[in-house]
Amino acid sequence: MNGQETQGEFGLIEWIRRRQVARPGSWTRLGIGDDCAILQPPSGRPILATTDMLMDGRHFVLERDGAGAVGYKALGVNLSDVAAMAGVPRVALIAVALPRGAAVAIAQGLHQGARAMADRFDVELVGGDTNAWDGPLVVAVTVLGEATDRGPVARSGARAGDAILVTGPLGGSLPSGRHLRSEPRVELALAMHQLAAIHAMIDVSDGLASDLGHILDESGGLGAILEVDQIPIHADALAAARSDGADPLVRALSDGEDFELCLTVDPGDARRILGALPVVRQIGFVTAENARLLRFPDGQLEPLTARGFDHLRETT
Ligand code: ADP
Ligand code: MG
Repeated sequence: MNGQETQGEFGLIEWIRRRQVARPGSWTRLGIGDDCAILQPPSGRPILATTDMLMDGRHFVLERDGAGAVGYKALGVNLSDVAAMAGVPRVALIAVALPRGAAVAIAQGLHQGARAMADRFDVELVGGDTNAWDGPLVVAVTVLGEATDRGPVARSGARAGDAILVTGPLGGSLPSGRHLRSEPRVELALAMHQLAAIHAMIDVSDGLASDLGHILDESGGLGAILEVDQIPIHADALAAARSDGADPLVRALSDGEDFELCLTVDPGDARRILGALPVVRQIGFVTAENARLLRFPDGQLEPLTARGFDHLRETT
């Protein structure tokens, strides 16, 4: 691995993605690059597959947050990826590297937390792997779900002229600890997908600017105009601003781990969704030109710089 293209998390994933091999009789309808892979077994509905790893000191602080909250979040972030495909999560596998010493108590706490999330969404815990070592706690969860009759929603279906919607307020989930109580928008995604054909969808895990950027990139290099006064800013971002002075708008655009959904639909469908589901907000629209812009209430335009979190660049 060397060269410009392997720099950063997204560059590395691109490098791996280009090396995917399609086998004869492949189940893979959509491989690397979306919230879930879409698998089509020889019969039945498409299966959605996703996995996410959480590490102590990076995604949580075990001593502060407790094992139960970690288990809850670890399953929740995966359910959020299934929600982002408008799928129904079904089963989960949980692999853990436990710190030696308190291994059993931590594993039980993790399980109870994961169990609480699983029960909320009728997900079965069907397997996993247990290891102990001298390092910190690491939890990797894999979830399988199924698409509905309306089919899975990828990141790649956005069209110029689409309305851009988000399912709730953004920003400040890390300073407030809300990231530990993620609320995967499974039911909301299914309700929206029943009301209208969703063109493209992603969950906001790395920050709106970055995650909307993935939709636009995967949809052939489209652009967007976001209306600044329509972007719902979470009270946590306003609270964080009072203590550290960070601009709440920047937090709403760049903070990660909100686990709201960002989606694009036909403008007429957007009106139907907004009418039926008042938590959903329209924040802008997709454009044919590649520019991604913020429009302030006075009409001024500024570039929407992707400042989401890149795990390999270590910048926010
Ligand atoms: P998300 O934030 O939705 O979990 P990521 O940004 O982690 O998605 O990953 C983007 C895409 O790249 C996903 O399709 C994921 O499955 C894939 N991916 C990430 N890391 C790897 C890897 N090491 N090998 C293969 N695929 C990967
Ligand atoms: Mg995702």
